Amino acid sequence: MSHSTPSPSICDLLIVGGGINGAAIARDAAGRGLSVTLIEQHDLAQHTSSASTKLIHGGLRYLEYYEFRLVREALIERETLLAIAPHIIWPLEFVLPHARHLRPAWMIRMGLFLYDHLARRKSLPASRGISFATHPAGAVLRPEFRRGFTYADCWVEDSRLVVLNALDAAERGAVIHTRCALQAARPEGGLWHAQTEAGPITARALVNATGPWVSEVLGARLGRNASAHARLIKGSHIVTRRLYKGENAFILQNPDGRIVFVIPYERDFSLIGTTDVPFSGDPAGVAISAEETGYLCESVNRYFRASISPDDVVWSYAGVRPLFDDQAADAKAVTRDYVLDLTHDGATPPLLSVFGGKITTSRKLAEHALEKLLPVLGRPVCASWTGGAPLPGGDFTDFSGYFAEFQKRFPTLEPRLARRLVRAYGTRAERFAGAGMGRDLGGGITEAEATYLANHEWGRTAEDILWRRSRMGLHVPAGTAERLTAFLKEIPATI
Ligand SMILES: Cc1cc2nc3c(=O)[nH]c(=O)nc-3n(C[C@H](O)[C@H](O)[C@H](O)COP(=O)(O)OP(=O)(O)OC[C@H]3O[C@@H](n4cnc5c(N)ncnc54)[C@H](O)[C@@H]3O)c2cc1C
Repeated sequence: MSHSTPSPSICDLLIVGGGINGAAIARDAAGRGLSVTLIEQHDLAQHTSSASTKLIHGGLRYLEYYEFRLVREALIERETLLAIAPHIIWPLEFVLPHARHLRPAWMIRMGLFLYDHLARRKSLPASRGISFATHPAGAVLRPEFRRGFTYADCWVEDSRLVVLNALDAAERGAVIHTRCALQAARPEGGLWHAQTEAGPITARALVNATGPWVSEVLGARLGRNASAHARLIKGSHIVTRRLYKGENAFILQNPDGRIVFVIPYERDFSLIGTTDVPFSGDPAGVAISAEETGYLCESVNRYFRASISPDDVVWSYAGVRPLFDDQAADAKAVTRDYVLDLTHDGATPPLLSVFGGKITTSRKLAEHALEKLLPVLGRPVCASWTGGAPLPGGDFTDFSGYFAEFQKRFPTLEPRLARRLVRAYGTRAERFAGAGMGRDLGGGITEAEATYLANHEWGRTAEDILWRRSRMGLHVPAGTAERLTAFLKEIPATI
């Protein structure tokens, strides 16, 4: 339940859903002067937006489905997001081994040419052909793989991107309530009257950004027949101990036409994913199956010298893609582009539903949402601003330069801890780093950090902190969750 009660006054926008799309719309709208309330039934990013492959990418694979609009928008976003969040987003080199019996080399070369040229690159390098006789990735791959390609995309700390969007929105006036579900909403007198777990909220427009719940919210909570539908596709990942030393990721082609990524993860681990499995049921209960685990292990074993089995899996997660249903026959072929469905007629105040979308395109999705919402709210469509304003803590240009400066300012911090704090919080780490950080509650999470998370980032439980504000859950010693839970009970949350 939220700690504060929604104000009885009328807000411009009630946004339902605290995943990346709801948070990005809240940020954009608050920065354009709208009064915004966002409600999230669980924690921010608790569902799809913390279960992604964590790539800010154009989506090389989508070129095969002629998704040029989406790929171009996503390619441009790589550089934009890298510039506004250099702490939580960084470039990543991908190695694509050429498997002769799968896609021919000319086809891959053509795809990479398009990838290089569909949008202007400022900082990311162009793709190139490589020989595994000389490239270090050759030591990881089975000897039959002789040649391949490299190209660049970016890594993102997905759940932190959501929280930073929400934090920026809040700092620009938005009200954010976590653990506050929309129970029902009805139109009356040109306004939306919503019942929520924290009380009634009245709004001029309602945004349904509930991801896998978008159709359920439309039907069961708003009593509407949707013209657009979501297609729910599960995707799962496994995490193993680090499989190789290099900093590059691999993109592996499978005989079924799908691709699987192997990515260095949290310094000591490798992240392997993902799958595409049609899903029905409660999205909150999604979990990886033994079949998916086997499929992901096999993908690695087809290419790597070292083989893995389900016994090597130390952690796994699964999420549900809320894709726009374009009636494609095959799960991997369903469009990854987004659709914004606006209803506004005499009987219904503005209602915008979000279908599909990527973490990568969330900022652009929010811009397009505002372009639709501002006119129906009687507001001028003012210039978009989110691409030029750093997200909280991202007000520096060069990570290494800022990290060196941070270390000079806080010389007593152990370098590994200092690096983790700057990666997670950027310049915001200065607000609590240094002397007097209090007890270490486990794995270097101090009382000062936990207090910051509780008071500024809606960190209410140990799980919020260990698995979404950070991925420290993978690293901390036994007893940390219990100590965090006890500590969070001691401090009154101020937001
Ligand atoms: C396996 C997988 C891999 C992916 N990899 C990538 C990738 O590498 N790069 C990329 O760009 N994209 C990727 N994506 C896509 C991306 O993760 C999703 O498009 C995005 O996270 C969807 O965000 P969302 O805000 O729409 O949904 P969600 O994150 O699910 O948020 C919706 C929120 O609405 C809340 N909600 C639901 N009902 C209610 C209610 N009644 N009241 C209040 N709140 C409610 C839910 O609790 C939830 O938190 C991947 C997706 C998956 C599944």
